Amino acid sequence: MRIIIFGPPGAGKGTQAKLLSDAYNIPHLSTGEIFRTAIKNKTDLGKKVTSILDAGELVPDEIVVALVKEELKKEKYHDGYILDGFPRTVAQAKAYDNFLKEQGKSLYAFILLRVPQKELIDRILSRGEGRSDDSEEKIKTRLEVYWNETLPVQEHYQEQGLVEEIDGVGSVEDIFSRIKSTLE
Ligand code: AMP
Repeated sequence: MRIIIFGPPGAGKGTQAKLLSDAYNIPHLSTGEIFRTAIKNKTDLGKKVTSILDAGELVPDEIVVALVKEELKKEKYHDGYILDGFPRTVAQAKAYDNFLKEQGKSLYAFILLRVPQKELIDRILSRGEGRSDDSEEKIKTRLEVYWNETLPVQEHYQEQGLVEEIDGVGSVEDIFSRIKSTLE
């Protein structure tokens, strides 16, 4: 099962992706986590993307697409996976569609987590993960980037009839149950 979990920053994508990963026994691929690990380990990739993540901007498509393709070729992803934080632009979505086509595979679902903007900001400010991009100012930039560059990805998958909209307000367990019943 190949699933994209989608939504604005603070919508709970990471949390729900981890629960799905455990429930369906398929790996969870978070591009944001890959970048944060690379930054922590001061790798070449990390050095390239530090200032971009700090600013709340997007890493260039070529870098992200190359990284995701290379990762998804690993055997552990062969039976399915959950994508969290990718694709984030229409160009990334198109590159991913082509990649799937080349592999003769298809996407099972695109889960959109819907959360009101005010709640997103409150959640990010209170989650206390110590992320450098979780300050109030950076959150505003990240939300703007989301509305301008990432939201069109939803339309892209709407055209393919793959979007499942989930109410992302409530307890983690309730939201997870909604996702599971939609998928099943
Ligand atoms: P996330 O953990 O998904 O909120 O991602 C954290 C940051 O990593 C984002 O604000 C971007 O700077 C970068 N990032 C993660 N995924 C992508 C992507 N698919 N395209 C571009 N930048 C990304």
